[in-house]
Amino acid sequence: MGGTEQNYIQEVFDTNWIAPLGPNVTGFEQDLEQYLGHQAHVGALSSGTAAIHLGLILLGVSKGDEVLVQTHTHNASANPIIYQGATPVFVDSEAQTWNICPLALEQAIQDRISKGKKPKAIIAVHLYGVPYQVEAIRAVADKYEIPILEDSAEALGSSYKGHKCGTFGDIGILLFNGNKIITTSGGGAIVTKTAALKDKAIFYATQARDAAPHYQHSEIGYNYRMSNICAGIGRGQMEVLDEHVALRRKMHDFYVAVFASIEGVDVFSTPNDDYFANYWLSAITIDPEKTNGITRETLRLALEAANIESRPLWKPMHLQPIFERYPYYGSNIAETLFENGLCLPSGSNLTDEDRDRIAKLIKAVFG
Ligand SMILES: *Cc1c(COP(=O)(O)O)cnc(C)c1O
Repeated sequence: MGGTEQNYIQEVFDTNWIAPLGPNVTGFEQDLEQYLGHQAHVGALSSGTAAIHLGLILLGVSKGDEVLVQTHTHNASANPIIYQGATPVFVDSEAQTWNICPLALEQAIQDRISKGKKPKAIIAVHLYGVPYQVEAIRAVADKYEIPILEDSAEALGSSYKGHKCGTFGDIGILLFNGNKIITTSGGGAIVTKTAALKDKAIFYATQARDAAPHYQHSEIGYNYRMSNICAGIGRGQMEVLDEHVALRRKMHDFYVAVFASIEGVDVFSTPNDDYFANYWLSAITIDPEKTNGITRETLRLALEAANIESRPLWKPMHLQPIFERYPYYGSNIAETLFENGLCLPSGSNLTDEDRDRIAKLIKAVFG
């Protein structure tokens, strides 16, 4: 926490606005709109999953449709496709940003079209806060006139060519879980290009009530709005967002320095200066052929023995038992990342002593 969150929450209690609406919800949305720029319209919701679900609904995804989605991601990027009765079509990553590969994406689109069905949407993700290949993915999307749902859950504070992540999709989503760059304890947001579309999202997020004095419904709705208490935390967190980004980036610099002299380990970094990453998580890949057989498991277990948590990169969705029956396009980039990749301690609250311990342990493992 930054320190001012409690003031916003106190205000909630003082004014008795304990509800999934109120001044903090509106204020938090305005803070985010201002931060993102580009006349973004933001609707605060109860989770990132809810935001992705509503995004798909706004893009007209329904039963029997196909949706293209990056395979290397959190399952929350893919689950809402199933909620809609649609079919996920998984697409591999490219090696530079670890995100959806424009070539595999185009190949997937062409093949689905040749099989008689044009996909309804593309879900692209900025993993670990590194932007996907924004221009290349937009070019493919525009060529085939398929809208992009931009999963910016991990990338609040990241940007590409000076434009903030969250503003590149036809619809974007943001996330404020306890482990993300800023938190509302749990929560998310949908980012739209027009006020009308935001209003539509809020309509679905509040049980799809028609304009009537009684409860009247012509459509199926959801209970997906953010609480005014949580939004109060969010308003306080917006004041420390840039600071959190700086601290995460400091962790990335720390790992670049630690691994500089270690052969066979790459610290995941942006390909060039067009990309600005919040480095939500610092991640590495280990090539055991260059490390005398030291694998990501060797390092993970050594860290675990010292009570330091680390975690393999996302297991690709097309390898998950629940998703393995769905189509997949690409080669083995995401699979190799899962095999050789590790997320390292990256929290914005790590101390110099913590960093010392981590560095000593890593150096001991690699001799
Ligand atoms: C954390 C995460 C989500 C999940 O959001 P919830 O708040 O758990 O619903 C979605 N997408 C990505 C890429 C994530 O990292």
